[in-house]
Amino acid sequence: MLKINTEAIMNCPNCGSKYKQKMPQIGKHMNSKCVFCYTVFGIKNSKDCCVYCSYSNKLCPEAQKINTKNK
Ligand SMILES: [Zn+2]
Ligand SMILES: [Zn+2]
Repeated sequence: MLKINTEAIMNCPNCGSKYKQKMPQIGKHMNSKCVFCYTVFGIKNSKDCCVYCSYSNKLCPEAQKINTKNK
């Protein structure tokens, strides 16, 4: 069984705070809102898959699926 981790620790690029966020299993999310400073931030590079891949400690569920396939 493929185990998908949906809880990411986000790292806010504005205030540097870390907060937990649940990642949706389907779809790409291009921005996130910091729970501390309320800044809405997007992806770091235009090449990045989504905001979770840019600013969290985990890959998003979509990227996790691709990574598992390639192993
Ligand atoms: Zn913040
Ligand atoms: Zn992603």
